Amino acid sequence: MTQSELHALAADYVFDGSSKLEGAAVVFEGARIKCVLPQSELSAKVPTRYLPANSWLTPGFIDLQVNGGGDVLFNNLPTPEAIATIAAAHRRFGTTAFLPTFITDTRENMRTAIAAAREAKEKNPSVLGIHLEGPFLAPDKAGVHDPELIRAPDEADLELLCAERTGGMLITLAPERVPSGFIAKLTKAGCRVSLGHSMASYDQTRSAMDEGLAGFTHLFNAMRPLQSREPGPIAAALESPAAWYGLIVDGWHVSPATLRLALRGCGHPMLVTDAMATVGGHQSTFHLYGSEIKVVDGRCLRSDGTLAGAALDMAAAVRNCARLLHVPLTDALRFASRNPAEFIGVGHFLGRLAPGYRADVVAIDPGPIAVLATWVAGKEELVAEA
Ligand SMILES: [Zn+2]
Repeated sequence: MTQSELHALAADYVFDGSSKLEGAAVVFEGARIKCVLPQSELSAKVPTRYLPANSWLTPGFIDLQVNGGGDVLFNNLPTPEAIATIAAAHRRFGTTAFLPTFITDTRENMRTAIAAAREAKEKNPSVLGIHLEGPFLAPDKAGVHDPELIRAPDEADLELLCAERTGGMLITLAPERVPSGFIAKLTKAGCRVSLGHSMASYDQTRSAMDEGLAGFTHLFNAMRPLQSREPGPIAAALESPAAWYGLIVDGWHVSPATLRLALRGCGHPMLVTDAMATVGGHQSTFHLYGSEIKVVDGRCLRSDGTLAGAALDMAAAVRNCARLLHVPLTDALRFASRNPAEFIGVGHFLGRLAPGYRADVVAIDPGPIAVLATWVAGKEELVAEA
């Protein structure tokens, strides 16, 4: 690598995943970060671009729950091209890496989705693998998932989920609906397992955690509520330093007061969007399992009023987190980058601005918490003015 391949971005503030540095610069070396240093230590030989006053540079956002975007829903179109469209739609909101999320469907369609994610990952560094949300869920907590397709796993499912693969795999399931030892097998095969759409008791949740379950999908939503004598999954999540929980901070899914309580837990919060097709798209409706879903006042609603994912992007999630939950911007940014990276096992090269890390970076204007530009593996994309 020659000196000429180095270039730097300088900003008034750099959040490196741990600390907020003033007057710092990120030096890129191709697709990687060479170093983060005070602007005063920048070599005059390294071409340097200075971002507008007050701008921040922060690790790219990592969204572990993305059902769709750019008017495409992954379940309706499980192809590598659809994943590319979804990636592009979310990137303008700061998402530089994500898990396309495939909800409850037939095994054959799951197989197609897994193959599509694998192919997309080969071409697009933003695709980290796949999140399979369902179909091993509690019918009582189906939400918008098709109850007809919810089922118990069999040997063929285990084979499909444990097959050799290149990307990450996150599986949301209801522990009380899978046989004992199932979660341990998935974990041993390298899958990350998350509780969701579940009526598990506290004891059932603790047993699942003993088998390797560590995630909680959209904590509070579609799970047994916290109760006086049956604390359920929520208490198990909040009291465990080994728990990682996804939060949908859209002002609709969970009350800000409840979310503020979650931030006082021992585990690791992660901002997710649960985004549907309309995010970064032009339309205000889409179809799921053949039913029309409409965006009404910032919510995705089925005709019976059931919430069907969210009309949320990561920049808005960070903004809501800072404003509605009253946390410092640095915490909101960490919940959107470093925490999800560490949860799915890519924290050694994503989620921080540090030497050797992939150059996945977001430049933001902290006033409106708006994205100015993104870099994925060192490649820049400016965000066009709306
Ligand atoms: Zn869900």
